[in-house]
Amino acid sequence: MPLTYDIVQKKIKTVMRLARPSDLLSEEAIEKFLDSLPFSISGTYGGNTTCVEIRTDDDTVFIIDAGSGIRPLGSRLFAEERFRGKGIINLFITHSHWDHIMGLLFFTPIYIPGNLIRFYSAFPDIEQRLRYQQVDTHFPAGFDSHMLAKKEFYDLSEKEPSIIEGVKVSSKELNHPGKSYAYKFEQNGKNIIFASDAEFNLDNMDGVAEYVEFFRGADVLIFDTQYTLAESFQKIDWGHSSAQMATDIAIKSEVKKLILFHHDNSYDDEKMDAVALQAAQYREMAAPGSQLKIMPAYEGLEMVL
Ligand SMILES: [Zn+2]
Ligand SMILES: [Zn+2]
Repeated sequence: MPLTYDIVQKKIKTVMRLARPSDLLSEEAIEKFLDSLPFSISGTYGGNTTCVEIRTDDDTVFIIDAGSGIRPLGSRLFAEERFRGKGIINLFITHSHWDHIMGLLFFTPIYIPGNLIRFYSAFPDIEQRLRYQQVDTHFPAGFDSHMLAKKEFYDLSEKEPSIIEGVKVSSKELNHPGKSYAYKFEQNGKNIIFASDAEFNLDNMDGVAEYVEFFRGADVLIFDTQYTLAESFQKIDWGHSSAQMATDIAIKSEVKKLILFHHDNSYDDEKMDAVALQAAQYREMAAPGSQLKIMPAYEGLEMVL
């Protein structure tokens, strides 16, 4: 959830209360002290909606979803010379709920002539869906009249993986109102899977083996963990999963690193720390000694595979 004045004040007060004089003696001591604090005190998980960037070894840009997080990403890309009129961006859309497409309206590179945005989705009508959010009663800049980058649309098939810029991309339908798709990206023996929004609950574990197969051995699995386990029981059919369920599936799939993703927008940083802790405790209980790494996503999180 986005920070407010009260939350920032609370963080500052807590830090000041915990700091000892020796923690403030040098820049290094301050950094060490901050690193020792829980993430909810020293940082914030952020409030933007879904957007993940993947860079290949040769600096090709893949983006998953165009939630509000694509606005700051667009500003960062724009700082690179090539995205001011010669850039190519491969944008994968999992589904068209607002929180996954609304940021496109504020994505600077799509307004620049000469750039090329390639849209990929397992929804064949994704172009119409994007146009629909941009009718002139809802937004002043037009899809054709203002977004002057070249736009191309490509269908992804669940039956057959696609090779895009040397990356193998597979898709799989997820249980979510109106459907959503998981995308798996593989290159040079490494892979990353994005699987949100997705509901897995204990009432409906029939098809889970198929997903375990799809996720098997992932280096990184970014997974829908919107709820705590307790809340997930009250929110059956809302289309999201709990961190414990994600941990369970990640253990079964022998995933190396699980990224907890799609945080509930009512959860503050402290509650997010608790969700991550519960997932780690669940891992210890369900599979003692498991090598699975669990990490809650935060805005700006970077990983090298
Ligand atoms: Zn959704
Ligand atoms: Zn969503």
